[in-house]
Amino acid sequence: MNTEQKFWSRTEWRGECLEFQGATVEGYGVFRFHSQSWKAHRLAWTFTHGQIPSGVCVCHHCDNRKCVNLAHLFLGTPADNSADMVAKGRSKACRAYVPDVRGHANGRSRLTPEQVMQIRTEHRTCKIIAEEMRVSRTCVERCRAQKTYTREAAEAAVEEDNALPTDPE
Ligand SMILES: [Zn+2]
Repeated sequence: MNTEQKFWSRTEWRGECLEFQGATVEGYGVFRFHSQSWKAHRLAWTFTHGQIPSGVCVCHHCDNRKCVNLAHLFLGTPADNSADMVAKGRSKACRAYVPDVRGHANGRSRLTPEQVMQIRTEHRTCKIIAEEMRVSRTCVERCRAQKTYTREAAEAAVEEDNALPTDPE
């Protein structure tokens, strides 16, 4: 069995998703390939379509990080290397914040794609939504102002934030 066959032998169908059954890091399946630790869905893409263009993320339509079903994966353009993308809202600017005991932002947690989409479709005021999601009102206002902040863009931004440092580009 070659490495690729070994990889696919470690997957199992769960409904529509093909889940990687090995080790995970932050919810993503991980697999060693050519002495490097790969995220399983990125490797699945690479086996099938060839090298992932530099700086591009492989994102999930299904929000299931363990999923390596190629029908659920798409390439997303990461945010921070293009002013155009930033203008379209594909930036990492919309980080949620969780106040610490002194009420300061620690900047570690951030909006999920679901929250971004909720903000975009909600009719309540930014202030109310911000309080409910425990993020800054500026963040909510920014998300709402970005008419092109699509689900895909939101996922790409979140996905990029979750990139493993060991992941080869
Ligand atoms: Zn899936």
